[in-house]
Amino acid sequence: MSKNFYITTTLPYVNNDPHIGFAMEIVRADAITRAKKLQGFEVFFNTGTDEHGQKLLTDATNAGKDVKAYVDEYAAKFKGLKELLNIVDDVHFIRTTDEHHVKAAQKFWEICNANGYIYKKNYQSKYCVGCELEKTDSELVDGKCPIHPNKEIELRDEENYFFKFSAFGDKLLKLYEENPSLVIPDFRFNEIKSFVKNGLEDFSISRLKSKMSWGVPVPGDDDHIMYVWFDALVNYISTLGWPEDTANFEKFWAEGAPVQYCGKDNLRQQSAMWQAMLIAAGLPPTKNIIINGFITGDGGIKMSKSLGNAVNPYDLVAEYGTDALRYFVLRELSPFEDSPFTPERFKETYNANLANGIGNLTSRIMKMAQDNLSESVELSEWEDMTEYYKFFETFEINKAMDYIWAKIAELDTIIQQSEPFKLVKTDKEKGVEVIKSLVVKLYSIRRMLTPVMPETSAKIKECIKANKSPEAPIFLRK
Ligand SMILES: [Zn+2]
Repeated sequence: MSKNFYITTTLPYVNNDPHIGFAMEIVRADAITRAKKLQGFEVFFNTGTDEHGQKLLTDATNAGKDVKAYVDEYAAKFKGLKELLNIVDDVHFIRTTDEHHVKAAQKFWEICNANGYIYKKNYQSKYCVGCELEKTDSELVDGKCPIHPNKEIELRDEENYFFKFSAFGDKLLKLYEENPSLVIPDFRFNEIKSFVKNGLEDFSISRLKSKMSWGVPVPGDDDHIMYVWFDALVNYISTLGWPEDTANFEKFWAEGAPVQYCGKDNLRQQSAMWQAMLIAAGLPPTKNIIINGFITGDGGIKMSKSLGNAVNPYDLVAEYGTDALRYFVLRELSPFEDSPFTPERFKETYNANLANGIGNLTSRIMKMAQDNLSESVELSEWEDMTEYYKFFETFEINKAMDYIWAKIAELDTIIQQSEPFKLVKTDKEKGVEVIKSLVVKLYSIRRMLTPVMPETSAKIKECIKANKSPEAPIFLRK
C-alpha cells in the first residue's frame, strides 16, 4: 500500500470572516493529517482561499477598496486560522490569485479544449451568485435560491464558453460504480447518483471580460475570463505543482488516494463537475469526497454571517482555548449530518467532558503519582492503535473520540472501585502498583489524543514525564 496521502479542504470565498463551518472542515482535515502522519504516511495537506469572481469585485468596490488589497486582507485572516486552530505547520496554503495557479488553470483549460470538451454558445440563464451556479426553475423557491434567500437571482444572456458536461453521464456513473466509497456518506452518494442519472447539462465556464474582469484570462481569447469552476477546482492539483511537477502529482494525486473535504453545498461541484473535468483532462479521479453537514443555529436554521447567527471561532478560542474548539467540532458535531451549535451546548460539553472529564482525570491520577511514586513511570513508546485508527479510515472522527472518552470513563471507574489513595495507606506496595497502572493507561489516552487535541496531549505527556500533577487545571471549569 502506498504510504502517501493527500487531503484538501474546500477553498472558502474570501468575502467574509472565517466562520465555524470552515473551522470544522479544516480541523477535521488536520486531525486526519495528524493521524496519518502518526501511522507513518507522508501527507500533503492543502487549504487556501478562492479569490476570483464577480461577488468579490462587487464587494471590494462597495467597500471602496482595490480588489487585490481586499483579497490580500481576507487571505491573511484565513491564514490566521492555522495558528488559532493549531493546524500542522506544513499545511499548504494556496490562493487562486497565485501566479502558478493561474497558469495551471489555463493549462487545464487548454487540455480540455484540445480534447474537444469546450465550446462557445449564446445562452440565457438564471444564476445564483451565492452558489456560483446556474439554477433551473425547479430548483428555485419563490424565484429565489433556497440556500441564498437574501440574494437576487440574476438573468443572464450572453455568449460564453461551455464545458460539455452532458457528455459525462455514463462516464460518471461508471466511475461511481467502480469506486463505491468515492462519496461519503452513502446518502450523499445516492443523491449525486440520481442527479447524474437525471441527465447533465453543459455549464458555462467563462464570462465576458467587459462584465467581469477579476479572474483568470481564457487562453487564446482576450474577451473572456474563466468563470469559477475551471479556475477554483483546479487548485486541488495546481497546489501539487501540476502540470510541471509530475513527480509530486504522481506521488500524492495519482498514487496518494486524494481525499477532499467539503460541505453539502459542494456535493455537485466536487463529485460530479470536478470528476468530469478530471476525466476530460485525462487525469485520475479523487479517491474519497467527504461531505460534511452544515452547522446550524438554534432550531436548525443555517448559520451564516448574512443571517446574523454565525459563531466566530476566534471568540470561542479566546474563551475556552483551541483544544476545546477542536473537541467540540470533532466529537459533538455529526460528521455527516447537520448539527446544531449553541453557546450553551458548547459550555455544557466543555464542563462535562473536558473540565470534569480528561482535565480532572489527569489531575487526580498525577496528584496520586506525584505523592506516592518516587520517580516517573517507565513507559513503552509503542502501542497497537489499530482499533483506534480504524475510525479515521471511515472519517468517523467522532467515534474515535467516543473511544477515547470510553477509556476515560473506565479509568474513573477503576479509581472509584480500587480507591488507590486509600490503598497506599494500608498496603503501600499494592497501592503504588494501581497508581502506576493508572499512569500507563493515562499515557495511552494521551497518545490517542495526539491527532485530535495535540496541545492537551502534550500537556499530559509533560506531567507524566515529570511525575507531577498539572500546576493549573488543563481545562478550567466555566
Ligand atoms: Zn444559492
